[in-house]
Formats: sequence, C-alpha cells, structure tokens
Amino acid sequence: MFDAAVIRRRIYFLLSVLVMIGGILGALTFQLSIEVQNVTQTVLGVFSAGMLLLLLQRKVPLQVIEWLSLGMYMAFWVFRFAVEIVSPHYRMGAFPLHSDTGLTVLVLLTFISLPTFSAMRVTQVLYLVFIFFPWLVLAVLPERRLDWVFDDFFRVQLITTGMVGLVYVLGVYKEQWVREQERSHWLHQIASTDLLTGALNRRRLYEVMEGHLEGSQFSVILFDLDHFKRINDRYGHATGDAVLRKATEAARDVLRPSDHIGRWGGEEFLVVLPSTTLQEALELAEHMRTRFLESAVHELPGFSASFGVAEHMPQETHDAMVHRADQALYQAKACGRNCVVPFGEHVQLSGTG
Ligand code: GH3
Ligand code: MG
Ligand code: MG
Repeated sequence: MFDAAVIRRRIYFLLSVLVMIGGILGALTFQLSIEVQNVTQTVLGVFSAGMLLLLLQRKVPLQVIEWLSLGMYMAFWVFRFAVEIVSPHYRMGAFPLHSDTGLTVLVLLTFISLPTFSAMRVTQVLYLVFIFFPWLVLAVLPERRLDWVFDDFFRVQLITTGMVGLVYVLGVYKEQWVREQERSHWLHQIASTDLLTGALNRRRLYEVMEGHLEGSQFSVILFDLDHFKRINDRYGHATGDAVLRKATEAARDVLRPSDHIGRWGGEEFLVVLPSTTLQEALELAEHMRTRFLESAVHELPGFSASFGVAEHMPQETHDAMVHRADQALYQAKACGRNCVVPFGEHVQLSGTG
C-alpha cells in the first residue's frame, strides 16, 4: 500500500546525503578561500549529518525531524540573509541571486512539514522578510543605491512572488489530497471492521480468506463464547458487550501479527491463520482458551469459549472450510464446552458444505 511517511523518509534520507556531500566539498574548499558560499555549504552539511543520524536511528518521530530541520534551515537562511544584506560588500541586485534557491527550498520544506494553513502563515512572514527587508536597508543606507542593479532586483522579487503563489496553489492541492487519504482510510476502516469489538467484519473476513485460497496453506479457528446468554441475563447487555471486547483483546494478545480475527456474528469469532498447519492452529486455540479463563478482571465476569479448528484443503471453498470448523465447534459444545476440537475423523460432517 502507498505509504506517504515511507516515501518522505526516503526523500529526506537522499536529500541529507546530498547536502552532506555538498558540506564535505564546501569544507574541502576552505583551503582555497573562505567565502560565504563555503561556510553556508559546510554548516548545512553538518545540519544534514545530524538529520541523517536521526533518520537512521528511527527513534525520533518523522514529524519532529521535519520541524527540527525546518527550524534550523529557516534560522540559517534568515541569519545569512541579514548578514549579507548589512555587509558593506552587499550589492542590491547581486545578493538575492543565490539566495532565492535557499528560499525555494525553505518554502517547499515549510509546505511539506507543516499543515497547509500554518505553512501559509510562515511563508507570508518569509515573503515579507525577503521582499521588504532589502527596501528597508535601501531606505536606511541610501549609499547602497550606487550599486543598484535594477533589473536583477526586480527579477528576484518577481521570482519570489511567483514561487510563493505557486506553493500556495500546491498547498491547497496537498490539503485536498491529505483529506481524501484520510477519508478513504476512514471509509475502508468502517467498511471492514466491527463497530463494537474493532475486529474485522464478516465481509472483510471473506476477502481475507479469498486472498489465501490460491496461496499457501492456512487454517481457521471458529470460537463461540460459552453460555453468553447467561452473562447478558445476569449482568446486562452492556457488560455482555464489554466481555465481547475483552474476548477480542485477549485473543489478539495470543495471535501473531499476520493472523486475522473477525466477528463472524453475535458472540462467535473466526480467526484466519496464514501459513499455519492444523497442529499449530490447535496450539494457538488452546493458548486462547486458557487466556480467556485468566481474563476475568475487576467488574467483568469470567468467561470461556469453545473452539473448532480446521485446516484448508486443496480446492476447498471458504464456505466449506468454515462449515467444517463449525462442525468441530459444535462437537466442542457437545463435549461440555471450554475445549478445543479439530475437524478430523471423529467429527462427522453433517449437511452439505
Ligand atoms: P452456547 O454456550 O451454547 O453458545 O450458549 P450461548 O448462551 O452463548 O448461546 P446462545 O446462542 O443461546 O446466545 C447467544 C447470545 O448472545 C444471545 C444474544 O443476545 C447474545 N448476543 C449476540 N450479539 C450480542 C452483542 O452484540 N452484545 C451482547 N451483549 N449480546 C449479544
Ligand atoms: Mg455462545
Ligand atoms: Mg453463538
């Protein structure tokens, strides 16, 4: 599935490496001459090395790394801008020519890292600094007017304006895209999960099994809470609901990340176990059974469940397989409940499946 965070992480990784290489080159040219450009490159290289370290460690959340790099990068460019503009060597037209790349990166970083509307506010401030500060310097230090390179000055101001405008438009699209993503994630979520327990719903369970029919071997466990009606009658429906949630949670504790648990209906659950033999499935079911018995906590009454287990047979439909698991479950109920029964020779297949 498309994962924006993974792609972002990769892009930052690549950028950090590139800027770090630039930093090393910048440091190497110190022997030739010390210029603003070398210092800039080296300082940025050191920043990037730090970012790279954080990215590789994977302990710091991506969002924090983004804010950190944005903050440092912004402080750096504004500082550099201020230093250059008040320096006596500054020529009005010449300076912003190499600063506008810095501004481009800065604006883009802002829009990637921050929510669109915060990014717009930050960009407005940047825009004011980069566009109006030179005019202010000009007003305070009119002798700089001697070096006035009129065309360049306006060119850079136009580029800056155009770029900020463009980024605003991109920002609006980004916001729309993020909302679409959230919406489709939400829709997928409600279309595939059971509201009460958060387990998969029956529709999704069918899809999961469908995905495994042609693939490797797998097994299923069908379990049903014992005498659940009594729990409802004795403690009320709300407590019954809480027990259903607790059962889902306890089952999840036992299951592996690749397993799928869903609510088959009422107080009956189906677990799909990819790449699992009947023997392994039986062990998992037994583990779940004992976990349920240990689950009575505080105000929740204790509960148990009966388990039917079946391994998928070649060419078998999922309905037929679940039917076999159901037969085993029926046997488990008949044998006194709170036990695990595999579908096997001793379980008679009744009806059609
Ligand atoms: P057995 O051991 O034979 O399975 O007995 P049982 O009482 O668990 O089975 P039965 O089918 O007689 O009763 C199931 C009960 O589960 C009846 C129904 O009201 C209750 N139930 C089904 N869905 C929910 C639910 O979402 N919340 C609650 N609280 N109860 C539910
Ligand atoms: Mg029951
Ligand atoms: Mg039932």
